[in-house]
Amino acid sequence: MKVYKFGGASVKDAAGVRNLEKIVRLEGAQDLMVVVSAMGKTTNALERVIEYLANDEEEKALAQWVDIIDFHVAIMKELGLQPGSDIRLQGEIPYDPTKSYDQNYDQVVSMGELLSTQIIAVYLLKQGLSVEWWNMPKLLRTDDTWREAHVDDETSAATIQAGWSRPQRPNIVVTQGFIGGTADGQRTTLGREGSDYTAALLGNYLDAESVTIWKDVPGILNADPRIEPNTRLIPSLRYQDAVELAYSGAQVIHPKTIKPLENKHIPLFVKPFGDPTAAGSCIAEDGVGPINIPVYIWRKNQILITMRPKDFAFVLEESLSEIFDIIHRHRLKVSLIQSSAVTISVCVDNTRFVPDALQALRQHFKVNYNDHLSLLTIRGTTPEILEQAKDGRTIMLSQTTRRTARLLVTDN
Ligand code: ASP
Ligand code: MG
Repeated sequence: MKVYKFGGASVKDAAGVRNLEKIVRLEGAQDLMVVVSAMGKTTNALERVIEYLANDEEEKALAQWVDIIDFHVAIMKELGLQPGSDIRLQGEIPYDPTKSYDQNYDQVVSMGELLSTQIIAVYLLKQGLSVEWWNMPKLLRTDDTWREAHVDDETSAATIQAGWSRPQRPNIVVTQGFIGGTADGQRTTLGREGSDYTAALLGNYLDAESVTIWKDVPGILNADPRIEPNTRLIPSLRYQDAVELAYSGAQVIHPKTIKPLENKHIPLFVKPFGDPTAAGSCIAEDGVGPINIPVYIWRKNQILITMRPKDFAFVLEESLSEIFDIIHRHRLKVSLIQSSAVTISVCVDNTRFVPDALQALRQHFKVNYNDHLSLLTIRGTTPEILEQAKDGRTIMLSQTTRRTARLLVTDN
């Protein structure tokens, strides 16, 4: 079997859904698990609904909700589907003011994937394909770490394997990326852009021959085409390289995608949905050398936190575990660490968790920070490339090894 994952950009309109059908048919539409994100920018729109509700702006929330429904209804009509009879539409926002923001977030935001997959499953069925729709909140079991739920692999694998090996199972299963559910039936999400991770988990559970992520780029490029005009395709790379690229901030694949595939030696293809027979990029282990072109990766929205002890009896080793414990508890994502005799600096993504973490750190350390920073990682650098990259930029901090340079620069 194979797993195909389609991101929001690839199913942002009716033409995208028709293109998905074409791609699914290319391989004979056999034994395929099709994992789909929310259509277009639906997840962002649903996030706005939650924000409005949390701010008691009910009218705005409802208007945004209606916009989202209308957007999907328009796509359904263009695909010849009957909203309401072919696909059930939820009139009410699944919001419960007695529950926490994050718990409500997961109930509301998961609607994007539930809608997109129902539309696609019904459409494919009407085109004569053998299709079944799966509801991940009932199949992919997670804990209740809202917005960043942890998957219970054992339970999920057993349920999903049983469903897949059922006699008479239709050829194609269409299901949601990014969402799962708790044992007591609450929906959860796995973190933004988490659909890739779902695809990898399903590939792992079902011993897929390969997993393919269909994207709006030719494959994995050596730089972001929105920033760098002269990008080059990286035709093949090792799992470890892919992890590093994802971790450095390359928006090609979700960082958690690689491990489940590497564990079972399943190759991951990243291919352009606009040109499905193109080779794209292949991430695997065997026969793939190191990347031999420089790779530029930007990680935006960084904050550099520098800590020094309140007294002068500074023992770095003893402080480290305390610092990282606080960082971990506050769900900060570390992108770079640097230490000196009396300070330790940690660069993290500047998320909504940062203010509380700063407060916690201040109880033990003197804390300074700089924000509005971006981290540029250059893999396969040379002294010339590094000089060019530094030119005209204000560098807060740099770390270089023989082949990799990391520059923390101010946004201006
Ligand atoms: N729809 C979700 C998001 O936009 C998940 C995904 O696309 O992978 O974050
Ligand atoms: Mg997406």
